[in-house]
Amino acid sequence: MNFQSILSEIDSEVARIPDEGKVASYIPELAKVDAGKFGMHLWHVDGDHCGIGDDREAFSVQSIAKVFSLTLAYELEGESIWKRVGVEPSGTRFNSLMQLEFEQGIPRNPLINSGALVIADILYGRLNDPRRELLDFIRLVSGLPDVGYNETVALSEKQSGFRNAALVNLMRSFGNIRNDIEGILDFYFHLCSIEMTCAELSKAFLLYANHGKIPGREEEIISKSKAKRINAIMQTCGFYDEAGEFAFKVGLPGKSGVGGGIAAVHPGKYAVAVWSPGLNKKGNSFKGMKALELLTTKTELSIF
Ligand code: GLN
Repeated sequence: MNFQSILSEIDSEVARIPDEGKVASYIPELAKVDAGKFGMHLWHVDGDHCGIGDDREAFSVQSIAKVFSLTLAYELEGESIWKRVGVEPSGTRFNSLMQLEFEQGIPRNPLINSGALVIADILYGRLNDPRRELLDFIRLVSGLPDVGYNETVALSEKQSGFRNAALVNLMRSFGNIRNDIEGILDFYFHLCSIEMTCAELSKAFLLYANHGKIPGREEEIISKSKAKRINAIMQTCGFYDEAGEFAFKVGLPGKSGVGGGIAAVHPGKYAVAVWSPGLNKKGNSFKGMKALELLTTKTELSIF
């Protein structure tokens, strides 16, 4: 399959679609991004890779990083994490508070904000230096020693993070948050502020396409079973109240972020990342979704 020519076709087709998306503005620093950016990069598990457009420009990965924190917490804690966070789609917005009250402070899944805050609490309580150790893990998985936090974005999130503060406090009232609230929020905001390019993000997601191993390396980073389960969670919960739509139109496990990025995997085949900052009403990249839909349509391959 000639992925480079497929990506080039996608590039020109997506360029013709008017962007109905809007750049996220509730985090002031994200609102400064050029809405016209578009990049896409695909890494095959065999080692071939190709890309188009702004695929080598770093952007704020935001909630896509929740997959990495989940992976590390799952590896460290094992199955006991599922006592504190579920594996069901929420059907609500990424930062919704509603279900949490009804469901006694147990988030539906680890890829919505509440669930990622519980995961942040688990890591915060378990690691000596959570920020550094999480970054070390992401550097290991991606093979990129320079991946880092954007302090300006982290601060901007902190200054506008009222809903996240509400979520963590509500869960604390139910006993599902155990550590210092300020510390957990700071850790969570840093997690969201990580910057990567589409080329880097797709390379890091090869772990999930390659059954828990970095291609070319023998050791497992996570077990095959855990990689399979994380993919299942991405498939059912990676796009909040648009997870069904993404499965319907694209048919790959994936995760979006309000920075306009989406990373997705075809297990056994490839990992792909796309970036277009304009978001649809559900908070997912408008053109990013279109591009991935075109990818699985043109290749006639999805997991279904
Ligand atoms: N940092 C963002 C927030 O907490 C992440 C949300 C997202 O990417 N969906 O609101």
